[in-house]
Amino acid sequence: MNIALIAHDEKKELMIQFCIAYCGILSRNNLCATGTTGKIVSESTGLKITGFLAGSQGGDQQIAARIACNEIDMLLFFRDPLSPKPNEPNDMNLLRLCDMHNIPVATNIATAEVLIHGLERGDLDWRNILK
Ligand code: PGA
Repeated sequence: MNIALIAHDEKKELMIQFCIAYCGILSRNNLCATGTTGKIVSESTGLKITGFLAGSQGGDQQIAARIACNEIDMLLFFRDPLSPKPNEPNDMNLLRLCDMHNIPVATNIATAEVLIHGLERGDLDWRNILK
């Protein structure tokens, strides 16, 4: 499965902790991420992650383009609901594109855990059938 990771600045530490906790499952999948998120997660976990541009430079749009082409199977997008910065990725566009293709998306760690367990259990195998 192709899993995309994005974390707003205030949620980057949480994303690192999540990826450490689920390193085993994540390592059996193809990971991509916006620039800074990908860099810090791969440095902290050793996971191989395809890094796009930083979110502020359009990395979120690179991921959005792949979602639009139905090339992403799961989006883990840890958003900061309290103080998102003006240059941080536009969530509505990403979420809209996920809804268009029924791509599982988590915007917080609680849902991300459910999705990652579901992935491990095979709940998302239907995405492979689609391809
Ligand atoms: P980043 O992009 O991973 O490059 O920081 C996400 C963001 O801008 O919040």
